[in-house]
Amino acid sequence: MSQFVRPIAQLIEQLAQLPGIGPKTAQRLAFHLISTKKENALALANAIVEAREKLRYCSVCCNVTDEDPCRLCSNPVKRDPSVICVVEDPKDVPALERTREFKGLYHVLHGAISPMDGIGPDALRIKELLRRLEDGKVKEVVVATNPTVEGEATATYLARLIKPLGVKVTRMAHGVPVGGDLEYIDEVTLSRALEGRREM
Ligand SMILES: [Zn+2]
Repeated sequence: MSQFVRPIAQLIEQLAQLPGIGPKTAQRLAFHLISTKKENALALANAIVEAREKLRYCSVCCNVTDEDPCRLCSNPVKRDPSVICVVEDPKDVPALERTREFKGLYHVLHGAISPMDGIGPDALRIKELLRRLEDGKVKEVVVATNPTVEGEATATYLARLIKPLGVKVTRMAHGVPVGGDLEYIDEVTLSRALEGRREM
């Protein structure tokens, strides 16, 4: 990358670290950013700074939020606090919200159990989930982890942990393609999967 002056080389290097961005794309984006209107480039830089400084994790559901508790957790009137839908990733929450099917609350694990990658249950926000079940107000936990080997292992682990507490544990139904990622599944399929959830 020595053929570029330092500020451009630096920009390319940073962009190339983003997921899905190879060196060629990083170069193209870098040159776009230096040739576009200065205020556009600065708006992007500011958006990154603001997102990083203002966002944190909700102390209840562990989703990303700019206020704690997040808007969903602090809105028990419109949401049913007796049902918690457990997802792997913050990206899954807007995917499920788009279906308008689910009226309960969420819990974000921030990953799935994956012994191959050295990710055990302790690396996930499971303790935080169990704490939410302590007062007995939650009647059902819908496990909506991804239909992958890791997602299934996580679902089984959670069911074993939660069922003895007297809480019903359900799993999203068929229609969700195996190996798929929730965020890429269309709304109709997700709605049906939620509707047809079965007890674990
Ligand atoms: Zn929350």
